[in-house]
Amino acid sequence: MHVCCGVCSVWPLVYLKQYFRITIYYGNSIIYPESEYERRLETLEEYLGILNDPEITLVIPSYDSESYMKDLSLYDDHQEGGKRCYHCYEKRMTEAYDYAEENRYDYFTTVMSISNRKRADYLNEIGERLDKEHAHTRYLYADFKKDGGITKNEEMNKELHLYHQYYCGCVYSRREE
Ligand code: SF4
Repeated sequence: MHVCCGVCSVWPLVYLKQYFRITIYYGNSIIYPESEYERRLETLEEYLGILNDPEITLVIPSYDSESYMKDLSLYDDHQEGGKRCYHCYEKRMTEAYDYAEENRYDYFTTVMSISNRKRADYLNEIGERLDKEHAHTRYLYADFKKDGGITKNEEMNKELHLYHQYYCGCVYSRREE
């Protein structure tokens, strides 16, 4: 499962671990600056420590903001939720999906649909295409906001007091806030 940060992973992990052994792929080189990328990773690790589930593992690829910035700078004047975000979802999901395929995971999904700011229709459209492009790993359709997921995630976060970022991640979203 691609995970973008600690706060977004709270309810989806509790939900999915009932059915799957989960490997988290923290591929989020779009996050600016690197210190913020590290802080969100530390928050995720803090939450995993609380869950203390030996069946959940964490993969941390290297931080490579250059390639993300090069691609997304084409859309620097687009608003959050538009084309820039579509390409950002696509790039992060492709990176994580390729990892899942190479390592023979049965399913892939992303936690990002839990966020009100993220478009589940875009995420699932990209996931459907990636499913067709990969022979082994299947895409697990998800909108973690649904069925009260967003409320559960908010309530659990209130209890846990995890670090909560104020912007989505890239340098553009930081400026927009
Ligand atoms: S606002 Fe968020 S989803 Fe959109 S491009 Fe920036 S980091 Fe990616």
